[in-house]
Amino acid sequence: MRFSFVTLFPELIEGYFNESILGRAKKQDIIQIDFVNPRDFTHDKHRKVDAPMIGGGAGMLMTPQPLVDAIRSIRNNDQDTHVVLLSPVAKKFCQNDAIRLAKKSHLVFVSGRYEGIDERVIESEVDENFSIGDFVLTGGELASLVVCDAVSRHLDGVLGNEESLSGESFEENLLEAPSFTKPDIFEKKYIISEYLKGNHSKITALKRALSLYKTQYFRPDLYRRVAQKASHNEK
Ligand code: SAM
Repeated sequence: MRFSFVTLFPELIEGYFNESILGRAKKQDIIQIDFVNPRDFTHDKHRKVDAPMIGGGAGMLMTPQPLVDAIRSIRNNDQDTHVVLLSPVAKKFCQNDAIRLAKKSHLVFVSGRYEGIDERVIESEVDENFSIGDFVLTGGELASLVVCDAVSRHLDGVLGNEESLSGESFEENLLEAPSFTKPDIFEKKYIISEYLKGNHSKITALKRALSLYKTQYFRPDLYRRVAQKASHNEK
């Protein structure tokens, strides 16, 4: 899969693909990465990409022309792009989106800076908007990486062990049950004894119960969906 990043600060993103799982995926050519900088599409000698907001408001906004030309330069070379804008003004990105986007062939991530981008760019160039949470970042680069990382995990060959993808948090709206590794006793704290006994059906049932407790405690919104589905299935 190809990922194109439309950003004023490619170097903020680039290093992430030199290490670890995504570094390996890039080396193995499972993912291809490129960067397009709107500043390279400006027509003035100062290479300006921002301007004050019309109608008032503090701060500057990214002007439409360099951004639109940057996005179109990618689209002109590939008809099969899916353009994603990272913005707080959007639905929240979730695991199902990551799974769905992993079926695309070319994702283009557009990162805003300053107070964001001119609304007309969204109307003409953007296929989908995502927020990564209810907070405001200084720019879209981190948010682009968050989405790209979550999508990449679902591409064949990216994770060493594909089984790692099953039973993860958010599958069936549940958070993952507690996990342990060696040693069995650490600083006088014990592993849940059932985990050590090797009875897999009992462990699965226990993990499901613990998963439900964790979800109810940390994410009552998700738990409600699980409970609704269970009561619907009972009817
Ligand atoms: N004025 C904007 C607002 O109030 O909605 C915030 C602009 S923010 C300072 C600059 C850029 O950071 C945005 O254009 C967007 O690309 C990115 N950004 C900030 N928060 C984000 C979030 N929660 N999710 C995704 N992108 C975000």
